Amino acid sequence: MIRIADSALVLLIGASGSGKSTFASRHFAAETVISSDQLRGALAGDEADQQATDAAFVRLHQWLDARLAAGALAVVDATNVEWMRRTELVRRARQHGRSATAIAFDLPLELCLARNAARSRSVRAAVVRRQHDELRRGLDRLDLEGFTAVYVLRSDGEIEGAIVQIEKGPVARAL
Ligand code: GDP
Ligand code: MG
Repeated sequence: MIRIADSALVLLIGASGSGKSTFASRHFAAETVISSDQLRGALAGDEADQQATDAAFVRLHQWLDARLAAGALAVVDATNVEWMRRTELVRRARQHGRSATAIAFDLPLELCLARNAARSRSVRAAVVRRQHDELRRGLDRLDLEGFTAVYVLRSDGEIEGAIVQIEKGPVARAL
């Protein structure tokens, strides 16, 4: 059971095609989800346009700060495979006194590649490989990054069976 405070920051972490957005739409209300792909799409007209990344993340941070300040649940749907990006997001949660939960999607590379390739707007296979590598290298140290709780989902079965419970008030220790 994944327990999350209703004022928390939630980071979805995984390569393109690992199922982050599907998981987000299944478990979280649309208004709680801040998606880097959607922001890229809004800014550049193309969700896969990596050129729009910097501008998208400026917006993402603004939205996130606004929700955290308001005590509203904020789910960041981005690859989040780079530890520096994660640290920046956790820092923002801490600044607002919110807890931060990590949900990582550790699926086989081949599955991510196949699901990415099957989409109309796919990113290059080399990009997915790099993201997958970076995720794998970071998994062991997620516990050291200041999250209140870290969940790692390692198969379709674990993802399908996941239960997310959103609870009033802080869950576990406040950061
Ligand atoms: P993201 O890039 O991490 O956000 O991944 P998405 O959530 O967009 O999923 C990538 C593709 O895999 C989409 O076409 C989804 O329909 C598909 N997908 C996601 N989760 C599952 C799953 O649990 N089972 C199967 N069979 N397909 C999935
Ligand atoms: Mg997505």
